[in-house]
Amino acid sequence: MGSKKILVVGSLHYDIMVDAHHRPEKGETVIGRGCSYKFGGKGGNQAIAAAKAGADVTFLGAVGADDNGKFLLTTLQTAGVDTKHVEIIHSIASGMSVAITDADGDYGAVVVSGANTKINTDRLSDDTVWSDVGMLILQNEVPEAVNLSAAQEARRRHVTVCLNAAPAKTLSADFQRCIDVLVVNSVEARDMSGVAVNSLHSAGEAVLALKARFPVVIVTAGEYGVAFSDRANSYDSLSAERVKLVSTHGAGDCFMGTFCRAFNEGRLLNEAIEAANHAAAIHVSQPKTDRD
Ligand code: ADP
Repeated sequence: MGSKKILVVGSLHYDIMVDAHHRPEKGETVIGRGCSYKFGGKGGNQAIAAAKAGADVTFLGAVGADDNGKFLLTTLQTAGVDTKHVEIIHSIASGMSVAITDADGDYGAVVVSGANTKINTDRLSDDTVWSDVGMLILQNEVPEAVNLSAAQEARRRHVTVCLNAAPAKTLSADFQRCIDVLVVNSVEARDMSGVAVNSLHSAGEAVLALKARFPVVIVTAGEYGVAFSDRANSYDSLSAERVKLVSTHGAGDCFMGTFCRAFNEGRLLNEAIEAANHAAAIHVSQPKTDRD
């Protein structure tokens, strides 16, 4: 018997990636070194990462009736993601972002959500959306009303809810109650827990602080690795694999997609984290393609 499907409800962005020696300071114009156009949005990236890891993935979201929207849909389909629940909306442009990557491989980004703000929550009560779904993946790049509807439907149907709380924001009590697994990076962990994450040990402290609010907590800490727990008062951690860094862009999405595929398959928490830590290490050491 095959594993159950993963449903991703989330954002799709047309990403403009600018490469520069350093990121501009206030008022500064920097002459860039190159530019590329990529598939993006945390929802889309995590859907593709999960599909690449072998999951049967369906996406629910929205794009504009424009060339960027066509590119986003085609890229999802090429990766094997089912797009029949992605709506094409005529009144608004597809979501987009501009990211600047510097010589150290670090980046900063601005997102314009566009069609992602128009995801129709009525679709979430459609039984065909949930057919054979075992896990729901969410992020914070779509309106919380969409996330709340999706999470409540999932709960009603005994579907595991994994939230990558990126970017960090205050979650309503109703939404928080629906989350089974919280995945955050060091910045989001700090914003949600108040613990400054700058080591594996502090990532573990952040896990313990967040455990009071979520049954399973995973804090990814970039080059340090990852801390996690599904128990009260203790956590485990795993160091990042040593690789030659090319770019950290999309590391968290790769981690999330791979983790969710493994966990949805019934692998133990530590095994699913090991698989994700390994896939993310490979991801940061490879040149990016249009789909990354
Ligand atoms: P995000 O991209 O969301 O900021 P992180 O930077 O925490 O997420 O990275 C997610 C995961 O990617 C880490 O927990 C680790 O497994 C892997 N990773 C990130 N940076 C490196 C690195 N320099 N070397 C090896 N693995 C890395």
